[in-house]
Amino acid sequence: MSHPTLQAVFLDRDGTLGGGDEMILPGKFECYPSALESIASLRAAGKRIYSFTNQPVIARGQACMEQFEQELQAFGFEGAYVCPHEHGEGCACRKPSTGMLLLAAEENGLDLHRCAVVGDRWTDMIAAKEAGCLGILVRTGAGQAELDRYERGGFSERWQEAYPLYVAEDLNEAVRWLLEKDREERGATLTDPDWPAWATEVIEIKPADPIWLEKGTQEAEHVKKLLSVHRISEVEHIGSTSIPGLPAKPILDLMARIPSYDELDDVIAALAAQDWHYIPPELDGVPSRRFFVKVKNDKRQCHLHLMLPNEEKWDKQLCFRNILRERPDLIQEYAELKSKLAEHYKDDREAYTHAKTDFVQRVLNR
Ligand SMILES: [Mg+2]
Ligand SMILES: [Zn+2]
Repeated sequence: MSHPTLQAVFLDRDGTLGGGDEMILPGKFECYPSALESIASLRAAGKRIYSFTNQPVIARGQACMEQFEQELQAFGFEGAYVCPHEHGEGCACRKPSTGMLLLAAEENGLDLHRCAVVGDRWTDMIAAKEAGCLGILVRTGAGQAELDRYERGGFSERWQEAYPLYVAEDLNEAVRWLLEKDREERGATLTDPDWPAWATEVIEIKPADPIWLEKGTQEAEHVKKLLSVHRISEVEHIGSTSIPGLPAKPILDLMARIPSYDELDDVIAALAAQDWHYIPPELDGVPSRRFFVKVKNDKRQCHLHLMLPNEEKWDKQLCFRNILRERPDLIQEYAELKSKLAEHYKDDREAYTHAKTDFVQRVLNR
């Protein structure tokens, strides 16, 4: 079984760890509050941590490599990857180039797909993306301005494609997010023999198939008929399979509105007769819904999300689906993000789902 767990984190220095937009020499550089605790918590969790920083002041003779190395070691870094060159020297290490990441991988035996980059600049995100690392942008330093620029459409081509997997307020939040994901991933790799096969099956993204839309519509009609005696009249096909042209886990998502959960037992029984398994909220962990999985031949075929009236997720789901159906450019962007996430979270359906929410939020905020 593969282990997608996090191996190492590459941290940018200026604007991420501390300081700001201007270069601050070693000795004068101050870390943000709790930044050193965050580094310590990564190390305590067994993660390796390396710096990942451009320092053209070295080329200019204002500081030397050793000063940076000493400073970073004192902060708790295991290794310092520092580009000492000027912009325009054409080196392979200066971000957005991937040279430092590739060298670190070689020197330390890292799988870059299991490494994260945390930085405040889009150049950090480009290097991360092109080396196959998880990119996390912080809003500190230049981070907010970079995000604003992206939102204004100020980036194109490889710049536009480098949108981070996660945007954190600061380094501390980025580290909390990473460690949380890592815990979930490790949890998912401890396979419990009592779990049915469909509960732990690996996520596989398939190329878009027009049959999904047809089947989703049919299944929605079927559920509507089955549950109409329980006062369920609205059933919608949602999620990736409801968007023509989008690669997806080939599992149909349906949502249905139920006036109250008073008759839930009857609904569970009616659905059970049609191969639907009820996942109780304490296992599901999503209070806003009651969740069912339809299983055939040990494979998940459909999900059903039952929601109460006035549940805000209902409108969000419909809105997201309808926007995407009109926007091939967003479909393309979403497809790329999904395939990248699926690679990282192969064995962890929940972490995968969680990581997509950032993109969804952006679409809805447009
Ligand atoms: Mg920076
Ligand atoms: Zn360089």
